[in-house]
Amino acid sequence: MDSLAIVGAGPAGAAAAYGLREADREITVFEKSRGVCGRAATRRKDGCRYDHGANYVKPGDGPVAELVHALGDDGLVDVTAPVWTFTGDGELSPGRGDDDPKWTWEAGITQLAKRLFAATDATVQTETRVETLARTDDGDWTVATDGGTRHTGFDDVLLTPPAPQTATLLSSTDWADDRRDALRAAAADVSYRSIVTAVLHYPFELDREWYGLVNTDDGHDIGWLSREACKAGHVPDGEEILIVQMAPDWSREHYDHPASKQATVAARAAGVLLDDDRLADPDWTDTQGWRYAIPNDAVAGAPVDAAREAGLHVAGDWVAGDGRVHAAVEAGLAAADHITRG
Ligand SMILES: Cc1cc2nc3c(=O)[nH]c(=O)nc-3n(C[C@H](O)[C@H](O)[C@H](O)COP(=O)(O)OP(=O)(O)OC[C@H]3O[C@@H](n4cnc5c(N)ncnc54)[C@H](O)[C@@H]3O)c2cc1C
Repeated sequence: MDSLAIVGAGPAGAAAAYGLREADREITVFEKSRGVCGRAATRRKDGCRYDHGANYVKPGDGPVAELVHALGDDGLVDVTAPVWTFTGDGELSPGRGDDDPKWTWEAGITQLAKRLFAATDATVQTETRVETLARTDDGDWTVATDGGTRHTGFDDVLLTPPAPQTATLLSSTDWADDRRDALRAAAADVSYRSIVTAVLHYPFELDREWYGLVNTDDGHDIGWLSREACKAGHVPDGEEILIVQMAPDWSREHYDHPASKQATVAARAAGVLLDDDRLADPDWTDTQGWRYAIPNDAVAGAPVDAAREAGLHVAGDWVAGDGRVHAAVEAGLAAADHITRG
C-alpha cells in the first residue's frame, strides 16, 4: 500500500487526509501542537470557549460549503449577526454587504479538522514536530521528528506549515536537487502579516447589533473586534468575550511585549472604540501572538509543480494565495487530488 506523510494538522493537512479517505493509502500526520486545526484554534476557560485564531469559516466558491455540511450539522453554528466597519477615527458603520455564512461549531472551530480526520483512517501524531526530511536514492521519503525518531518509507510527503516554516524545513531536507532549492526559495519569498490577539472576558452582556467590526482604512490600532457570545455554546448567558485582533503594524511593533501589556492596550482601545468605559477592565484576559498570521501573497507555481514530480507536495493558504480557512481546505483537497493521480 502507498504511504503518505502529512506535516501539519491544520485545515489544509486535514482536508488532504479527508480527500484521500477512500484511496488505498496509509496516511500518517505529524502535528507539533497538542491539538489539531492550526491557526483555526479554540481554547477553553471558566466555562467559555473561544476561537482566538480564525473567527469563522466561509464557504468560498468551491466545495467547502458541501464539505462542511457533509461533516454533520450537529453543533454547527452560523454567526448570523452582521459585521460592521469602523474607521481610524472610531466611526462605526453598519454593514459590509456580505451575507455569506460564517461557520464555527459550538465546540469551537477546531471541529473542522477534528471532523475531517474522524472521517479518515489517518494516524494523527500530535505533539510531534518534524525536524528534517530526507529522500533516499530509490525515491522514498524519510521524516525525522523531535526526539530523533526516523519514520521511513513514505512514497509522498505533504508539507502544510506556513511558508516560512516550510522553507526552514526544506533548508534541512537531505535531498541534493534543484527542485528542493527552488521550492525552498519560493516558500521563503512569501511574506506574512503578524497579528496579536487579545481575548477579553466580561461578567456582563454587551448589547450590540453586530457580531464583528472590521477596520477599513488601516488607521486604527485594532484591526478586528468580535463578540464570542454571538456563537452558540461559546459564552454562558450574562457574560461576553471580545476577540480583539490588533492591526498588523501594531502587532509587529509590540509582538514581544508582555502579554498583560498587550491585553491592557487592547482593552483600553476596545473601551474607547465602543464608547464603554467598563471594557477597559476585563475580569480575565488571554493573548496569542500569531507571527505568521496571514500570507500576503501566493507561492510561485512552477517550483510547486516541479517538486510534486518527486513526491514532495505543499498545501496551505499560502499555496492558495488567500489567508482564509476555506482556501487552505481547497488547497488540501487539490493536493489530495494530485497525490491520487500520482
Ligand atoms: C488571528 C487570525 C485570524 C484569522 N481569521 C480568519 C477568519 O476569520 N476566517 C478565515 O477563513 N481565516 C482566518 N484566518 C486564517 C486561517 O486561520 C488560515 O488561513 C488557516 O488556518 C490556514 O490553514 P493551513 O492548514 O494552511 O495552516 P495552519 O492553520 O497554520 O496549519 C499548519 C499546521 O502545521 C503545524 N506545523 C508547523 N510546523 C510544523 C512542524 N515542523 N511539524 C509538525 N507540524 C507543524 C502547525 O502547528 C499547524 O497546526 C485567521 C488567522 C489568524 C492567525
